[in-house]
Amino acid sequence: MSTHGIERAPDERVNWKTSAGFLAIHALVLGTFFTGISKTAVILFVVLYWSRMFFITAGYHRYFAHRSYKLGRGMQFLMAFGGATAAQKGPLWWASHHRNHHRYSDTELDLHSPQKGFWWSHVGWFLCDKNNEWNAEDIRDFNKFPELRFLTKHDMIGPWSVGIASFLIGGWSGLFFGFFGSTVLLWHGTFFVNSLAHVMGRRRYATTDTSRNSAIIAFITMGEGWHNNHHYYQASARQGFFWWEFDVSYYILKGLSYVGLVKDLKQPPARVKTAARVRDGSFDMGMFKAHWAKAGAALANVRAHGGQTAGLNTPDLLEADPELATRREQLEDLIASNRAALHDHVQNALAHAEELGRLSRRQERQAGITD
Ligand SMILES: [Zn+2]
Ligand SMILES: [Zn+2]
Repeated sequence: MSTHGIERAPDERVNWKTSAGFLAIHALVLGTFFTGISKTAVILFVVLYWSRMFFITAGYHRYFAHRSYKLGRGMQFLMAFGGATAAQKGPLWWASHHRNHHRYSDTELDLHSPQKGFWWSHVGWFLCDKNNEWNAEDIRDFNKFPELRFLTKHDMIGPWSVGIASFLIGGWSGLFFGFFGSTVLLWHGTFFVNSLAHVMGRRRYATTDTSRNSAIIAFITMGEGWHNNHHYYQASARQGFFWWEFDVSYYILKGLSYVGLVKDLKQPPARVKTAARVRDGSFDMGMFKAHWAKAGAALANVRAHGGQTAGLNTPDLLEADPELATRREQLEDLIASNRAALHDHVQNALAHAEELGRLSRRQERQAGITD
């Protein structure tokens, strides 16, 4: 039995066969030992890592998934194509799944909650057949653009173009180190936001998930490490809420806004930035839920295995005193039913509290306080 807070569904499994390409590219980086590392390959590596990270964070994430600023159709296509070169599937696939991550954060329906296992949240979910599908309903606003549907259907055009270009520019070294090397690092850098950013770092805001703020992840991902800020107020194009929270993707977007290529960059309102602080005593529902789920799983494990490991269920012992055995069984049942009732009460209270939070936020919005 698993000790994860949330049990994965039976169809949430890695398909090793269809993941062969993904794994092979990791192995191909080793080709660098044969090709050596040329100066051109190093430049390619650096440019391809940071430029594609920008397209993922500013394009796929902040624009397509969250609509935190506006773009013209040409720039929108450029962001979509740039994101597609990172080999993380197409823009509609990426953004629709990400919207669901926010909708169902750290529940059974979350595709990549670390509560289903750290490696699952990091890479397993990405290699699972079930998640190849995406629902057009989740991204109706962008699904209407034929060019975005095309890029999502033919999501290999981006990576292949960059791969071929890397070979033409830097030869074998350009391909193996510049392209494959930067692609692998880019995968894991991006994936850290789903895995590490939900387990490492600090929580400033009380949210219903386990998101955290980490400067290290913010460095690797050009600002995505301020993940607790982001879960708390997703509408903002800026994820570093304070001057010391560096957010390179945002600085570039800000720069592009001066020349008119980017418009209406959304900011977190001052009132939002100072509210809901864990430090000020706001109830941290996300962490409470996570601990509660873990405790429930641990108790269920003890009940399932505890008896055997302690040798308490051996026939000799049960036969020795049937009365004691019956009493013990009664107590076990009582504990189990109490636990189930308590679990239901807590789940109910949490659901009501979440609903209350939603309603009051809506009320505030209607009164025009938040925006
Ligand atoms: Zn997001
Ligand atoms: Zn998250």
